[in-house]
Amino acid sequence: MHINDAVFLEDLCPKIRFREWRKSIHNFTNKKCIYCGQPSESIDHILPRSRGGLSNTENCVPACLSCNGSKTDNEAFYWYRRQKFYDPRRAMAIRAWLEGDIRLAVRLLQWATPTNKKNYISDYKNTGTSYKAA
Ligand SMILES: [Zn+2]
Repeated sequence: MHINDAVFLEDLCPKIRFREWRKSIHNFTNKKCIYCGQPSESIDHILPRSRGGLSNTENCVPACLSCNGSKTDNEAFYWYRRQKFYDPRRAMAIRAWLEGDIRLAVRLLQWATPTNKKNYISDYKNTGTSYKAA
C-alpha cells in the first residue's frame, strides 16, 4: 500500500491522530469497558504509566471511569482478579490485547459480552426460585 496524503496529514497533526487512535481503541470493544462491559468512557493503561507502561495500542484498553478509578496504579491482572465482575474470558482477552493480538481479544470479548447483563438477571431469578423452593 502506498503512503497517502491522509497518513501524512495525520503525522503533521498529532491531535487528530490521537483522537482517531482513541476512537479506534473504543471501537475494538464496541465502546465497552474491557473489564466489566459497561460503556467505556476512558482509556486505561494495562501496565500503569507510573510503572513504565507505554501509551500504545497494546497497553491501552477501553475502560469505564469506575474501573479506571478503582484500578489506579495497580497492575491490571492483579486488580482485575479481585473484582466481583471478574470474568476469565475477559482476563484472557486482556492478555491477548497486551500481547498485541487485538483480533483474538475482540473475539474473546464477544464471547464474554452476551452473558453480561443476563447473568445478573438470571442470578436474581435463581435466587428467587431457590427461596421459594426452600
Ligand atoms: Zn468497567
